[in-house]
Amino acid sequence: MFSDEACCLDCRYPLKGLPESRCPECGRAFDPSDPETFRSSDGPSFWQSWGRPPGRTHAALALLTTAAVVYGTSAPWPSLSSAPVLACFLLLTPIIWLCLLIDWGLRLYACSTASSAARDVRPRWAPRGVWLLAPICIVAIVAAVGTSWPLRVRFAISRPALERAAAEALAGRNPAGDRWIGLYYVERIEAPGNTAFWFRTGDGFIDPVGFEYDLSSAGPRGRGLRLTTHWRVAEW
Ligand SMILES: [Zn+2]
Repeated sequence: MFSDEACCLDCRYPLKGLPESRCPECGRAFDPSDPETFRSSDGPSFWQSWGRPPGRTHAALALLTTAAVVYGTSAPWPSLSSAPVLACFLLLTPIIWLCLLIDWGLRLYACSTASSAARDVRPRWAPRGVWLLAPICIVAIVAAVGTSWPLRVRFAISRPALERAAAEALAGRNPAGDRWIGLYYVERIEAPGNTAFWFRTGDGFIDPVGFEYDLSSAGPRGRGLRLTTHWRVAEW
């Protein structure tokens, strides 16, 4: 049954005559008595060779695209013109995720149909928890786009510094902007009235974008995500 041409399902390393039932090249386990766990002339189907957890490339792409989306949605508007690499990544994200989800689904299906020995093929570098990576990342991405949580978190951390800058501007000091305030790089601070401040953080597709801080009791008017009573995301 264990013929001379038996080789690893993943890397095709020849498996005949090894001291242990594990591929020395890639670490994939096999069972000499179970033909589904190695490749041979009458070896496993296409499905068995898929029956293992997602690999390094899957994990790296999932984490990188999620980081790009979280970072991109943490700004008042994705300032695509200033970050071409980020822009490419964000535009490619739906395509990358289509591939990742197909990969994930095929592996899950293959694992559910493969024999138990064929499933014991965890890559040495990753725990079985790698299965959870894609669902967790998808939830984070959908929530980032749907609820703007990265922007709310980044703004909440930056808010004390922004309000200090507004107080300084009100006192006639440091009105210019053009510096890091909290976690945002502010290009310009404008004070169009006695109670309103515009913190310009970049350019949207057409107009400048940033935050509006309005100390009046009604708070800022106009469209844009309302962050607190006195703050909103603005496009001018
Ligand atoms: Zn191998």
